[in-house]
Amino acid sequence: MAKKLCALTFDDGPNTDTTPLVLEKLRKYDITATFFIVGNNIDEDSEQVVKKAADMGCEICNHSRTHSAMPELSAEDIRAEIEFTSGEIKRITGKRPKFFRPPYIAVNSTMYENIDLTFIAGIGAEDWLPEVTAEERAEKILAQIKDGAVILLHDMSGNTPTVEALDIIIPALKEEYEFVTVSKLFELSGVTPKKGIVYSFTSQTTEY
Ligand SMILES: [Zn+2]
Repeated sequence: MAKKLCALTFDDGPNTDTTPLVLEKLRKYDITATFFIVGNNIDEDSEQVVKKAADMGCEICNHSRTHSAMPELSAEDIRAEIEFTSGEIKRITGKRPKFFRPPYIAVNSTMYENIDLTFIAGIGAEDWLPEVTAEERAEKILAQIKDGAVILLHDMSGNTPTVEALDIIIPALKEEYEFVTVSKLFELSGVTPKKGIVYSFTSQTTEY
């Protein structure tokens, strides 16, 4: 029987401490993931990490320039946030991103009207809270997993419990699930993403 599908995704990079550790885990298990990067985190050094991720077959997507709550921004500022980061991704990887993760998963109609990318959320693990242990992070993901799921984790600087959680999450799922990029997740699920949905699962038909 064909394996179920899921996509590991990481927000709030790139950086030169946590992002390389995540890449090491992906290499260890021979899988790919998707990174939703913040434009203002790109510098000469972190850019090399993004390049390495892309070279490994990972997908690089847009998580805004400044990580602001975008429903509070004007249409013009929203477009500038997206264009900056998409432009940087194109410059570094040669490809413009197709997917966008709204900071704080905060969305409004102005954003849908001005951002020509598919909106992605995911099943989370509160992995930005230092008190949530690696084991708890893994448990939260494993409790929500299903076919077509996007797994939402953070490779922000210093977030080592999430790196450790990967050593629980990936082996627990690897027999039953194939880990693919977000693009592949939609492609292999046979789903054409629609505007007005913030996808956590490819099978989703309502906004959230
Ligand atoms: Zn974020």
